[in-house]
Amino acid sequence: MHRKGSDPENMQPEDFLCDFCHNHWSEARPMIEGHQGSLICRQCINAAFTAVVLAEAGIDSAFANTTCNVCLEQRGGTDPYWQSPLIDTACICQRCLMQAVETLEEDPEYNFVRPGGKPA
Ligand SMILES: [Zn+2]
Ligand SMILES: [Zn+2]
Repeated sequence: MHRKGSDPENMQPEDFLCDFCHNHWSEARPMIEGHQGSLICRQCINAAFTAVVLAEAGIDSAFANTTCNVCLEQRGGTDPYWQSPLIDTACICQRCLMQAVETLEEDPEYNFVRPGGKPA
């Protein structure tokens, strides 16, 4: 998300906030962009991947009407979600999460390794 009151003509790193933790963009906190300016930072991607993929603890049917913040689709029943422990309205579906992980992995600048390492 963009910080309230930010100037669209003159956006600063502090104006780009992760939808899932509300920390702002920085070199240590790169972000992946979703629909309508939604953002998820590397730290939240790590936490989400650990919970949804490694621990298989994604949220499913109880939140079937929850909209993914990143693709803006209701994917309950299709994909498990990760719900931010900090902002309980912020959810990402597994499909968007995997896209974010792959985007980070593909760019050598991020030097990103998914938790648990990439399967061979
Ligand atoms: Zn975050
Ligand atoms: Zn999604």
